[in-house]
Amino acid sequence: MDIKDKSLLRSEAYINGEWIKKETTFSVYNPYNHVKIAEVSNCIQVDTESAITAADHAFQIWSNYTANKRSRILRNWYELIIENVTDLAHILTIEQGKPLQEAIGEIKYGASYIEWFAEEAKRVYGDVIPGQSRKNRITVIKQPVGIIGAITPWNFPSAMITRKVGPALAAGCTVIVKPSEYTPLSALALAELSDRAGFPKGVINIVTTKDAAAIGESLTSNSKVKKISFTGSTPVGKIVLKQSADQIKKVTLELGGNAPFIVFADADIDAAVSGCYDSKFRNGGQTCVCTNRIFLHESIHNEFIEKFANKVKSIKTGYGLDKGVEIGPMINENAVIKDINLIKDATNKGAKVIAGGMRKKGLFIEPTILCNIDSNMDIFSSEIFGPIAAIYKFKSESEVIEIANNTKYGLASYFYGRDYKLIWRVAEALEFGMVGINTGLMSTVAAPFGGIKESGFGREGSKYGIDEYLNIKYMCWGDVE
Ligand code: ADP
Repeated sequence: MDIKDKSLLRSEAYINGEWIKKETTFSVYNPYNHVKIAEVSNCIQVDTESAITAADHAFQIWSNYTANKRSRILRNWYELIIENVTDLAHILTIEQGKPLQEAIGEIKYGASYIEWFAEEAKRVYGDVIPGQSRKNRITVIKQPVGIIGAITPWNFPSAMITRKVGPALAAGCTVIVKPSEYTPLSALALAELSDRAGFPKGVINIVTTKDAAAIGESLTSNSKVKKISFTGSTPVGKIVLKQSADQIKKVTLELGGNAPFIVFADADIDAAVSGCYDSKFRNGGQTCVCTNRIFLHESIHNEFIEKFANKVKSIKTGYGLDKGVEIGPMINENAVIKDINLIKDATNKGAKVIAGGMRKKGLFIEPTILCNIDSNMDIFSSEIFGPIAAIYKFKSESEVIEIANNTKYGLASYFYGRDYKLIWRVAEALEFGMVGINTGLMSTVAAPFGGIKESGFGREGSKYGIDEYLNIKYMCWGDVE
């Protein structure tokens, strides 16, 4: 299998509708075999400045298009992405490592944000509010925020971009995307297709760099950039937020998680095992909504572990382009070392290895199950971001709610149970932005994705998602009577 349309494999930055080749470059490697895939333009501050100038100029044009016109161009882009899904997935797999089927799923999922917001563009309604006096009328309109800086991670190199760019463009904003230095190729392939879709130049810009801090600084410090939308780690999210504070810049943050997965005594165990597998091992455990702590009621603890272990021991790891592979490599050496240290710390403090537990050749960690976990172990409070399932035993509902909420994070949470009263109580008590009830997969464009606490704020997708890119303007009409 090969990439059919080679012109999707770009290595230059994309600024003002042009491909910018820089003399200095950085290397992008395939995490499976460490083969170099590309030398990509390494942008510096001055390139960000050009992108901002281009986006500023383009904003005057793009924001004045009718919603219908913006919608049609977004729709073209969506269709081009779907036509090229296999090539885009291939590029994603070779730079990020996830199995091709999962990469195809990500491209379709990512494209759904462009399709959805192409439709939402036409539904940016205002309001007419009864005035306080006979002389007054109140109207409300919504206007695009302006230039958006989007900083995105490597774990979903395509979908984390479309989730921001789709609603931003629909609202009438223009964007500068800074993709992860590990996975710029998926971003550039999207840019190539956007070029064919008919966006005016400067509406979408992709600034590739290995100096994320410098480009982040130039985006946050420039007053023409009106909003930063960031997905990534909580420590970097805090830097972006602090830098944005100087100009009271709008910010959306989608940060780390520490998702609990609770199985109550009356749960359907087979369904819970399957849901836990999905939410734990998708993308090799490298998603911010992956299950991080599994809490099993003591009455079903052993049965669950036995069934779960059967499933986990049969996972096929390997090269994402090979048939039947379920988990690819980790993204880099640091990620492997961090996870191996979490396993060591837990086993030193009394955790028991039920499956896996070892590093394998290359950037692989065996799919691992650890039980007898307690809250003194590092794994309790760290975002694992790898194929390690950490299992706790609990006795009562109140105990498990307290321990599940005992984290600074508040992104995803999951639980399995059947009693509807328990379901309501637990769903309301969990301090997380999202709750999966008898399901391990909940990401969809139709729902608001986002967190609370140190997992960030703002929502992506759904009818709420476009509001992140709109300002509300209130017009007070006097002397109407
Ligand atoms: P992850 O490793 O999970 O992707 P990071 O928070 O390190 O999480 O990276 C997310 C995005 O933030 C990437 O595009 C990365 O290049 C970028 N980034 C890293 N450091 C900074 C920084 N100081 N300022 C702005 N962006 C940054």
